[in-house]
Amino acid sequence: MPFPPTVRRVAGSAPGRLARYARLRLSRRRAGLVLVYHKLGEPPGDPKRELVPALSPRLFEAQLRHLARLYRVVPSRELRAAAAARRRGQRFPVAITFDDDLASHVRHALPALRGMGLPATFFLSGASLEGPYRFWWERLQAAFDASRDLGVLAAAGVPAGAAGITGWGEALEAATPQERGLAAEALAELVGPDPDDAGMRAADVAALAAAGLEIGFHTLGHDPLPALDDAALEAALRDGREALERLAGGKITTISYPHGKADARVAAAARVAGYESGFTGVPVAVTPASDPVLLPRIDVLNTTVDDFARQLIGALQRS
Ligand SMILES: [Zn+2]
Repeated sequence: MPFPPTVRRVAGSAPGRLARYARLRLSRRRAGLVLVYHKLGEPPGDPKRELVPALSPRLFEAQLRHLARLYRVVPSRELRAAAAARRRGQRFPVAITFDDDLASHVRHALPALRGMGLPATFFLSGASLEGPYRFWWERLQAAFDASRDLGVLAAAGVPAGAAGITGWGEALEAATPQERGLAAEALAELVGPDPDDAGMRAADVAALAAAGLEIGFHTLGHDPLPALDDAALEAALRDGREALERLAGGKITTISYPHGKADARVAAAARVAGYESGFTGVPVAVTPASDPVLLPRIDVLNTTVDDFARQLIGALQRS
């Protein structure tokens, strides 16, 4: 999940945008884009009051059609090489990825991707393989939506953040894993048991893999990795990976870092742990100079397909 939500309007008209993309295609620019999605669903979410606003499945499908028409959609593990191999005039490569164990991956993303025959990678924690589970920010959202008194978070040791749900989200993200665990339990008390359909069961993961979609790792505990000591970092990169590998039917060698956060130490540890590619939340294009275990990703706008189109062009132009 990302903090804070990155939503902004991007300037430019549709014909101007197509001309800009055509000019970019004629350049020798060696670049590609990795996109990250989270929740899909109706009604679409409100970024002003939701930490992870849902993207309408209809808008998602329109974005996929845009990508299929103007870009070359490749598996995320091939993106960097595809960017390096790009020649003048060719389409820019794009990879589609999803973070977090969300029921909407199977309900909405799977049929849309399968319908268009597009590859994608799903970065999962495996926290809900055996039963319903909501991440702390989902419980926080539920508490916020129900106007519950968040005083319990202070009792769990979490210092109050800035006003609003984003402030609380940032405060919890900055807390220690122990404080966050206590806060997650306190939030569960506040909002009741996680709904039956929360998260992804083992069969859901197997269904994605059976459809030829790639399973990556997102760590079981979803702690920001740069804040962990060496032993906890090693454990985070390992614990829960095997259970997902059994469902994926093979080794998992790709990871997306929780909250998109990684540094040189995290990247080195990921390499030692056998990951060949790692994805952050830095919203820029991938180039041949990008470190394979620190590949940037763009958090997709959930406004209009036109904004999406401009967002991609802007990232390529800045590459
Ligand atoms: Zn996440």
